[in-house]
Amino acid sequence: MTDILFISDLHLSDERPEITAFFSHFLKRDAARAQALYILGDLFEVWLGDDAVLPGYQPVLAGLRTLTDSGIPVYVMHGNRDFLIGDGFVQQTGCRLLADPTVIDLHGKRTLLMHGDTLCTDDVEYQRFRSQVRDPATQRQFLALPIDERISVARHYRSESRERNSYKTAEIMDVNQSAVSDIMRQHGVYRLIHGHTHRPAVHNFTLDQHAAQRIVLGDWYEQASILKCNSRECRLASIANR
Ligand code: MN
Repeated sequence: MTDILFISDLHLSDERPEITAFFSHFLKRDAARAQALYILGDLFEVWLGDDAVLPGYQPVLAGLRTLTDSGIPVYVMHGNRDFLIGDGFVQQTGCRLLADPTVIDLHGKRTLLMHGDTLCTDDVEYQRFRSQVRDPATQRQFLALPIDERISVARHYRSESRERNSYKTAEIMDVNQSAVSDIMRQHGVYRLIHGHTHRPAVHNFTLDQHAAQRIVLGDWYEQASILKCNSRECRLASIANR
């Protein structure tokens, strides 16, 4: 029985070449046998534009292209690190971009897919920052900068966000349950899959007297978190990444 695979928060970076190598291996071994692969954001630690691909990312793009050429659909959603992935990436890899949120029919069950950052509504400061950087005019301005300037702007944002996050509690940076219920009601779903918080878990709860489920994908730091869904069940697994 073939699986549909969901992953997120790999944060691929030149600083962790072993994870990039492991991901290439995962594409050849696991994804090549899957029915489809969904990457729900933050595949890359940083994406400075399709015209500014870091050398370390080229093997990843080639691996994705091999997979899509073999007929396996790969869907990519923007995360808060790689939201500038655009048409150039799509053309190079054959992946399809997914809007956040997107509802899919997962083996007959309506399932909502998100990156997850928009659910962290208690982090008011982050939400304000997010609406700034997701503004199309801001993005056009950024992408018009020479690449070395984009690198320094991204570095600046990154260190600011690190500093701000160091004062925030774990609760503030987790999802808000009312935001979860609201968006699930709005889309008429009882299952949500997302990443971002790096807190892999399957949360079962009741939504309007109906059994509901929120599956949180983990990151690819200490292990690789993978959700495998077939027609019977979804299993959240953590596998050794080296
Ligand atoms: Mn994220």
